[in-house]
Amino acid sequence: MMDKGEEEPDKDKGNCNQNGSSSISDRLAELSGNMEEINRVKRKYPMKITRYYLDLIRSKDDPIWKQSVPAVEEVEDDFNVEDPLQEEEHTPVPYLVHKYPDRVLLLVSSMCAMYCRFCTRKRKVGRIQQIPLEDIFRAIDYIKEHKEVRDVVVSGGDPLMRADNEIEEILRRLREIPHLDIIRIGTRMPCVQPARITPHLVNILKKYHPLFMNIHFNHPNEITPESSAALKLLADGGVDPVHLPVPVYVQRANQPGQPGPVAGLTASSVCYRPVPYGYSKIPPGNSAADYFYPLPGAPPRKAQRQH
Ligand code: SF4
Repeated sequence: MMDKGEEEPDKDKGNCNQNGSSSISDRLAELSGNMEEINRVKRKYPMKITRYYLDLIRSKDDPIWKQSVPAVEEVEDDFNVEDPLQEEEHTPVPYLVHKYPDRVLLLVSSMCAMYCRFCTRKRKVGRIQQIPLEDIFRAIDYIKEHKEVRDVVVSGGDPLMRADNEIEEILRRLREIPHLDIIRIGTRMPCVQPARITPHLVNILKKYHPLFMNIHFNHPNEITPESSAALKLLADGGVDPVHLPVPVYVQRANQPGQPGPVAGLTASSVCYRPVPYGYSKIPPGNSAADYFYPLPGAPPRKAQRQH
């Protein structure tokens, strides 16, 4: 249940779910999107976009479009794998990934405000109803029983798709675990639905330090007055946003081999106070291969797959 006065994260009527919303479809068609192709991809990998993020699209195939609108390569590229981070084989209890001795990944939401086309968890997001809280509490019990775990990344889906009181209950249970030092929340909300970052939410988050928020902005066009205000609210509230862009933007959202937007993004983000942490290097994911930054000296994609 939502607390009175809380903002329902998914109430944006502009969200386009798998069945589509005519206004968003109209906008994509207006921008010369190939609706037949978009709908074909959506049948395999759901599409959802906030009205806010949709309105950032300036033209077809711009960096915002490429991150949010289904591309036919997602279903045609034979390079992809379903579970590129091999999370399933490191899942001792549902919704918890324990791959490294001292840290775990806790999946608390199956939904996101927007389904990023480069997501490495496409096999999961947007496919089931919200994860039951009882299952999350069982995963937290696992952390309690494993004293070697010092660091938890709360992820999903997007954890901020949960109601504020649910987020608080999850954080409260995690913070009660004596051996757990660091809590990190992975979210794209400041970027794709900045209105979700409310004073009420920040007041909850700041009770559970040390707590960091891993955000990723992938292109300077995502730095807007609204997203800047959300970052400022977090920083002023004592929640440290850690800027962790994924290198997806260079390959599809930017132009390959042109570092300009990278520098621009980092400079812009520093102005709004997230700590630039580095770039996530993630292996090619399911239907996401076309988004990855071609690192200098890296073998061609087909060769990489053999390793
Ligand atoms: S917000 Fe995160 S989990 Fe959700 S689609 Fe984007 S990358 Fe995937």
